[in-house]
Amino acid sequence: MRPMKTLLATLALSTATPAWACGQSTHVWIGIEAVQYLPDGPLKALLQEDDLLVYRINGAMFPDGGYSPLTQDDYGEQAHWEPFQTAYLDWIKDTWDPPYTDPEARQHIAFLMGLAAHGMADQMFDGIYLTRSLLTYDGEARWDASVSGADTATDVALCIRQGRQPLVEDVVPYDTMVEVFDRYGQPTGRDVMMRGQASLRLAITYIGNLSEDPEESAAYDAEFPWANGHIDDPDVPGSPKEMQVGLAGYWTTLWDRLNDDFDPTAEAIFQTWPADGSYDHPTDALSIEAQVSVGLSRAVDLDTVTTDRVQVLGPDGTPHPIDLRMYYGNGSNILNLWPTDDWADDTVYTVSIGPGITSFDGQTIDAAQTFTFSTGPAPEPPSCGCASTGGGLFAAPLLLGLALIRRRR
Ligand SMILES: [Zn+2]
Repeated sequence: MRPMKTLLATLALSTATPAWACGQSTHVWIGIEAVQYLPDGPLKALLQEDDLLVYRINGAMFPDGGYSPLTQDDYGEQAHWEPFQTAYLDWIKDTWDPPYTDPEARQHIAFLMGLAAHGMADQMFDGIYLTRSLLTYDGEARWDASVSGADTATDVALCIRQGRQPLVEDVVPYDTMVEVFDRYGQPTGRDVMMRGQASLRLAITYIGNLSEDPEESAAYDAEFPWANGHIDDPDVPGSPKEMQVGLAGYWTTLWDRLNDDFDPTAEAIFQTWPADGSYDHPTDALSIEAQVSVGLSRAVDLDTVTTDRVQVLGPDGTPHPIDLRMYYGNGSNILNLWPTDDWADDTVYTVSIGPGITSFDGQTIDAAQTFTFSTGPAPEPPSCGCASTGGGLFAAPLLLGLALIRRRR
């Protein structure tokens, strides 16, 4: 039986709305953990500085503060998305120069990476993971019957499996946020943002406590057996664990932008589902696992994402019929596409992205970027008696796909 909610509980839980998207503890966990997937280099070194962790955690929380009943302010929604985050990135670039050795610059970069972790996590979680839960594995009936909502239930589930997440001091750079929101054209007060962040701290405390009560937490955990059961599964597309690889890739593109070293063509894609060169992709057009998702490094101008610029080519170069959708529409990053006819058996397909796809602020993919997947089995490992069978990462058949369904905007 679900215990009666206290007022405090109601407040704590309602700070995580909308019902899609990651909860606060999940955001913190992703923002902390994804660093391990960065390549060694200056960004990883920056994000591994102990003093800066608290800035990244605060950034990974910050956007949802606008949904709190104590704020109800659109600053939160805007802070999720690349246009606002780009205004902040540009502010950092205008204030300091690479290689960003100034301690204050490094604090802002850590906070920016937290914001980016939050926004991109929500996009991947909703567009790739929760759609699987809704459409196939948990099903609409469970979604309709849910008392807590998927955001809260999955947040509890994450803490049950990975432990409660740290409650750190509030180090949000409020004065800078006021300045950047001004630049962005949406003036926002310091007080409202402070109330928002306080609400998120409450949510982390509440969910952490809840997760440590076996009886109470079990009710939440039972609501979405699949989504909760795979919450930290590295093999399920878009799970909070699996998405950390993609997030690290996206962080790298932000670092390159900070350093004026970003190539909008060569770095157009930060992650694909399935992975490049994977095998055993399901053929059934009606299966959610037959679908393909692409993480685009720049938030798009939706009008430029067209079927002549996004194609899936068979071995002879003939386009396979597909539908496509940017999951969150204009100014977002996750592209979902799926076959309208079954994929052919034992066939290698090439997904081609661009040229001509343009970001919201005018950066264009100049040449097609491609990746492949096969509906056939992976080749047998060589029977040479070698110590290693080779293949490694890219030979691992990853299940992937995506779907689209709802738009927050
Ligand atoms: Zn959010």
